[in-house]
Amino acid sequence: MKVIDIHSHILPASLRVAYENNELWYGTKIERNKEGRTILTTGKRKNVMSTPEYWTPYNERIALMDDAEVDTQLLSLNPQLLRDSDPIDIAFNACKDVNDEIADAVSNRPDRYQGLGTIPLKDPERSISELNRIMNELNLKGIIIGSHIDHKNLNQHHFFEILMEAEKLGAFILLHPLSTRAHDIMGEYHLINLIGNPMETTTAAANLIFSGFMDQLPNIKICLSHAGGYLPFAIGRFDHAYNTRKDVSDNLNSKPSDYLKNFYYDTITHSDTGLNQVIEIIGSDRILLGTDFPADMGVKKPLKWIESINLSEDIKNNICSVNAENALGLN
Ligand SMILES: [Zn+2]
Repeated sequence: MKVIDIHSHILPASLRVAYENNELWYGTKIERNKEGRTILTTGKRKNVMSTPEYWTPYNERIALMDDAEVDTQLLSLNPQLLRDSDPIDIAFNACKDVNDEIADAVSNRPDRYQGLGTIPLKDPERSISELNRIMNELNLKGIIIGSHIDHKNLNQHHFFEILMEAEKLGAFILLHPLSTRAHDIMGEYHLINLIGNPMETTTAAANLIFSGFMDQLPNIKICLSHAGGYLPFAIGRFDHAYNTRKDVSDNLNSKPSDYLKNFYYDTITHSDTGLNQVIEIIGSDRILLGTDFPADMGVKKPLKWIESINLSEDIKNNICSVNAENALGLN
């Protein structure tokens, strides 16, 4: 069975070069610890990559994909390096640099890689121009974006303009949690990831629905990371509020659950029951295989896992590759 992984991350090669030259990467200090894990420090933000594999160059990465039985990865920048909080010139230059690099990696091995770019979300004009370059010149498939733009929610007018362009261009958008804004209550047990990440994705999706953006963008292709966070399971509560409260229903043409099928969802649930429930709530045609490679919270053997679940062969095949081929225009 062919496997396309739509959720896999890179650290840029240009970051490795900066490290070797003892330089900053667009304002980010790079260190490595004894285990080979990369430590990124940007201002007050400090991120330690969860495995040494983030450092692997594109050509050596293919052996890791073979081991995981993944045919094609849709490469996207590690979200810790998204630059939404940085000065716009730094953000824009970093985006262009990474986009060129991913396009290069794809053109060297189009049989194994496809790619997503990044855009400087605080500046709609430059975002739209770079999005056009990503889609039309670099032949990437879309973009990865965070769950907030410099700590602000996604229901912003200027962001809607960017989404309109993305819809027009047919860009695929991987919506990924950024460092949670609820960090004050999630300091221990990795809750910042276990609870904070799904909460961020749920909050982002809720803002896209309740703002009316999804109503106005019927063909937008947004994939919610980690199977949509809590969205599939919170939807009854959303519908109840829509029927009860004017501040919830004001912007919408129909109830929140009617928009569930307007999103895509990856498979990263770490649970047979969880994935089955998402399929039951959403429908298998919107579910795309993802791994979060090479994170420690990722799925190491995605094909083996999907094959072990009680689903029809057709559904497995659709989830592993056919749905992604359709969403990305690979067929
Ligand atoms: Zn991820």
